[in-house]
Amino acid sequence: MTKRALITGITGQDGSYLAELLLRKGYEVHGIIRRASTFNTSRIEHLYVDPHNPDAKLFLHYGDLGDGARLVSLLSELKPDEVYNLAAQSHVRVSFDEPEHTGDVTGVGTMRMLEAVRVSGIHTRFYQASSSEMFGATPPPQNEETPFWPRSPYGAAKVYSYWVTRNYREAYGMFAVNGILFNHESPRRGETFVTRKITRAVARIKAGLEDNVFLGNLDSVRDWGYAAEYVEGMWRMLQVDEPDDFVLATGGDFTVKDFLSTAFSHAGLNWEDHVRFDERYLRPSEVDALVGDASKAKEKLGWEATVDTGKLARIMVDADIEALEHEGRPWIDKVNLASWES
Ligand code: NDP
Ligand code: GDP
Repeated sequence: MTKRALITGITGQDGSYLAELLLRKGYEVHGIIRRASTFNTSRIEHLYVDPHNPDAKLFLHYGDLGDGARLVSLLSELKPDEVYNLAAQSHVRVSFDEPEHTGDVTGVGTMRMLEAVRVSGIHTRFYQASSSEMFGATPPPQNEETPFWPRSPYGAAKVYSYWVTRNYREAYGMFAVNGILFNHESPRRGETFVTRKITRAVARIKAGLEDNVFLGNLDSVRDWGYAAEYVEGMWRMLQVDEPDDFVLATGGDFTVKDFLSTAFSHAGLNWEDHVRFDERYLRPSEVDALVGDASKAKEKLGWEATVDTGKLARIMVDADIEALEHEGRPWIDKVNLASWES
């Protein structure tokens, strides 16, 4: 029997890699997209086949995490075996500008999804995209037992989503799990997150299109992994016998400066010649250090990151240099993770 998955946030970085992975595994994949006046499907266009084609395995539906009735009608109609709730207002800095909207989508939106599963009466396995931002000011290393201390409206909304997911598991016996993922990046990462902002700038400076990049705090420590392999961990969390929560991380501890140094030197440049400070990129309260301990995922899921932050920075710089050469033409990075699928 072909398995059917529903992904919210399918147009995002993780949604696109997860859709690719599930299609490779033989799933029928459904995604919820938001109506916009311009197309917002560039990350999944390469996967799309006209639904009139009998070979089509990817189907897109309009919906929004703010619209609970629509979520009920979609879940009742599709009856997916697995639901991956990846949709969110996912940017920490933006969450200080739009705290109410972030709470509504990133927090209450999860409850709307869970409630839609419950009232539609379907049997499905539910994955919640929880975040290391929930740990916030609690010092590293952080694992599944670490207390939460969120430092932004985004982090607080994710804490709400974490607990409501656990509550539906405890209250209704739902197979509902939290993947607590540390920062994960790729050539498909949104262009205003610091890694992608840096690697795009490296490519443009190298090509002579720009001289500088403006950044905020360079001292924060992050555990940056490669998104293409984190989606395998998400899938594995829904294949175990008992629902449980898992951290996915590399265990690395790069500062923003370390990432700058690795990315610029890979292109033969010195970061200190090109980085300027702009206070608008500071946050009212910062998360100083996130370094994950993913030993539970290694032991129980057999999942372990294979791409460290240095290698990730080089993958992203190479991809942004290649993307510049394709400017104006469709381009999508090719994933090469043979070790995961052998
Ligand atoms: P992205 O920002 O790339 O993607 C977010 C997705 O959510 C997009 O598809 C977006 O649609 C969709 N979305 C936003 N608002 C709504 C809404 N109101 N209704 C329906 N869909 C909506 O995030 P990532 O792929 O990087 O992350 C995936 C998930 O994992 C997010 O929940 C994020 O918070 C979480 N996470 C991410 C981490 C990371 O390092 N990447 C770390 C830990 C957790 P559109 O394209 O139309 O904007
Ligand atoms: P986050 O960990 O989810 O907040 O991911 P980001 O990529 O947005 O930020 C990672 C770290 O980089 C944070 O500590 C930011 O304060 C820091 N940072 C420094 N300059 C910038 C910048 O210009 N943009 C972003 N997004 N972050 C920056």
